[in-house]
Formats: sequence, C-alpha cells, structure tokens
Amino acid sequence: MDLTFTAAEEQFRAECRAWLEANVPRGLPSGDTREGFALHLEWERTLFDARYAVVSWPEAYGGRDATPMEWLIFEEEYYRAGGPQRVTQNGIFLLAPTVFEFGTQAQKDHILPRMARGDDLWCQGWSEPNAGSDLAGIQSRAVRDEAAGGWRLSGQKTWTTRGAFCTHLFGLFRSDPEAERHRGLTYFLLPLDAPGVTVRGFGRLDGDEGFAEVFLDDVFVPDGDVLGGVNDGWSVAMATASAERGLTLRSPGRFLAAADRLVDLYRDYEETADANVLDAVVRAAIDADAYRWQTFLTVTRMTDGENVGAEASMTKVFWSELDVRIHDAALALLGANAEVDDDGTASAWMKGYQFALSGPIYAGTNEIQRNVIAERVLGLPRR
Ligand SMILES: Cc1cc2nc3c(=O)[nH]c(=O)nc-3n(C[C@H](O)[C@H](O)[C@H](O)COP(=O)(O)OP(=O)(O)OC[C@H]3O[C@@H](n4cnc5c(N)ncnc54)[C@H](O)[C@@H]3O)c2cc1C
Repeated sequence: MDLTFTAAEEQFRAECRAWLEANVPRGLPSGDTREGFALHLEWERTLFDARYAVVSWPEAYGGRDATPMEWLIFEEEYYRAGGPQRVTQNGIFLLAPTVFEFGTQAQKDHILPRMARGDDLWCQGWSEPNAGSDLAGIQSRAVRDEAAGGWRLSGQKTWTTRGAFCTHLFGLFRSDPEAERHRGLTYFLLPLDAPGVTVRGFGRLDGDEGFAEVFLDDVFVPDGDVLGGVNDGWSVAMATASAERGLTLRSPGRFLAAADRLVDLYRDYEETADANVLDAVVRAAIDADAYRWQTFLTVTRMTDGENVGAEASMTKVFWSELDVRIHDAALALLGANAEVDDDGTASAWMKGYQFALSGPIYAGTNEIQRNVIAERVLGLPRR
C-alpha cells in the first residue's frame, strides 16, 4: 500500500484542522445527560451546517463525498482538536451504513438527510432482558397486520443507549416464531412517539442517565419502515454489527488523541511515575499508532473491493482493550488525583475509564468476538 497522503488529502486535512480548531466547543457536559445531550446536539448541528457531520456521504444527503481515507483524516483531526463524543453516532455510524446498503431509494431520501441534520435521533433496539450475546434469542415479536399494511410490535428492549433522548429506534423483532432462530427476524424502523411505545430512562455506573428500556405494546409500523427483507433481519443486523465493531464507530483518531493526552500526562507526572507506568504509556502510544496503520490497510483493502467481514471482530477486541489500557495507565499516573478535579467532579480520566470498561461489553462482548475470530477467521472447530 501507498503510505503517503496525496496533495488533496493534505489540503483536506488542513481545512478540517483550521475549521475544527476554531469551532470545537470546550467543556461540554456529558452527552449522556438530558442537558448535555441538548448541548451536544447544538454542536452537531453546527458540524452539519459546515458539512462536517457526515463527510463520507454523498453531497445530496449533506456530505462531501469524501473517500474513506479522507473520512479517517477528518476523524483524526476531530479528536486531535478535542471534539466531543457524537450523540448522533448510533444513527450516523451504525444505522446509516445499513440504510445505504439495504434501504430503498425512498428510505434513503427520507431517513439520511434528516439523520444528518439531527432532526431524527436514532437509538439501537436490539438487546432484551434475555437476549444480549445470544441476539438470535430475541423474543419481542412482530405480528402481521395485513389489513393495515404493516406490523404490530410488542416486547421489551433494554440497554438502549440514549434512548430517553432519541426520537427513533432501529430494532430487531421476531416476525416468524416457527422459523429457525436466525431466520425469523425482521429489522424495523420506528418513531419513539408512536402509540404504544413507553421509554424509561435509567442510570449507568457513572450516574449519567444514558440508558433506556423501551416497552412496545401493539405498536403499528407500516411495511415501508421495514429495512431489508421480511424475516431477513439477521443479515441486515450483521451489516450494522460490522459497522459497530469495525471501522465506523471507533476510528483510530479517537485513540490517537487519547494516547497523545496520556503522553502529555506522563510528562506532568514523570517524577512520581515508576518504570511500569512508563512501559504502559509507551505501549498505549505504540498500539494507538498500530491501530491507525492497520486501519489504513483495511481501508485500502475495502477500497480495492474486499469485504473484511468477520475480521471486524478483531478490530473491536483491539480498540476496546486498547481504550482500557490507555485509561489504566492514566489512572496509575494520577494516583489519588484521578478521583477528583479541583472543582470536585470526577476527573475526565476517571470518567473515561468507567466508560472504557464498557468497551469489551457493548457492540458484542469480547468473549463473543473471540469466538467469532476463532471460528470464522481462523477456521477452528466450534468445539
Ligand atoms: C455502554 C453500553 C451500551 C450499550 N448500548 C446498547 C444499545 O444501544 N442497544 C442495544 O441493543 N444494546 C446495547 N448494549 C447492550 C450490549 O449489546 C449487551 O450488554 C451485550 O451484547 C452483552 O449482553 P448481556 O449484557 O445480556 O450479557 P450476556 O449475554 O448475559 O453475557 C454475560 C457474560 O457471558 C459471556 N458469554 C455469553 N455467551 C457466551 C458465549 N457463547 N461464549 C463465551 N462467553 C459468553 C459474555 O461475554 C459476558 O461476559 C449496550 C451495552 C453497554 C455496556
């Protein structure tokens, strides 16, 4: 692969850097609180107005037709400038690639511009009280309503990130209870203010109200809001999962910026740090860089028409464990200072650590990813 950036890519990087340095907001509260969510949304609408919300999308939907490499460059610059978490991420980074792949033209034209502008805010309704790792065990059901031309959904979803603040849900429902588990599922798109939907927010480990349970009681969804084929929801969901585990949700820029902040922190605490911490800092910096180069290779392969498929699971294990290691090293440097900032709130590193701990769980646990890697990448026997 060619490791040099083209003149156009360098120019794009310079434009992104200048705009982001001038515009990225400082000190926003967590986007997993109601107040913080609203402030993040305001920022993300500013990103959209400057055509930076969805750079890789077609211009017709609010993007810049950027290449995958340019998208990676944007992501590096976004996090380098201190850009905050994106509260619209589950729509833009998970649902959108699936709509591009499986959506009808009408669905693309309706859903994508509204998502990019932040008019419709999407959350992911997959997990249920008895279906997490075993996603094919979904029990929420979709019953055909032939006369009305659609489906009636009932059941309970849980762990719905920012569900209490979102307007729409993409979810998996059992549409054929007689079919083999992976075959009888359908992927639905629905507004959370539809009659029969109840959303109940609840708190996370760090106290933020970032999760919701979503209860559905005979909720009508028209045929036009099925994504992909009826009873083919599993393959549609696997496309979303591949985006979640692979490139789009957690690009290298996020970890490069965190590793840079860690190196700066090391310089502040150098005198009290022991050699083990130095090793951890060096390893974090090298691993963040390794993820960057690996991603360039992946993007080159994808641009050449290859499908990385189950290899997305390797990416997921790598970035989620890297994130924990970066934060572990920061906490070791900070010692007791990690507990509080001067104003008495939990330090950003502590908050980041608590969230990093969830990385090996969300997007499919790392135990499950290791099963996938063993069976589908390495070809090992199931037992
Ligand atoms: C921060 C965060 C955000 C999330 N956001 C969403 C969201 O927006 N929408 C959504 O639908 N879900 C979301 N989830 C839920 C997430 O997808 C599930 O927590 C995850 O899939 C695991 O399911 P579970 O919690 O039911 O654990 P379980 O499936 O009960 O697993 C418990 C433990 O058993 C292990 N295990 C289970 N089966 C196997 C196996 N076959 N082999 C080896 N080990 C196994 C698991 O790895 C895990 O350690 C989120 C979770 C977190 C932490």
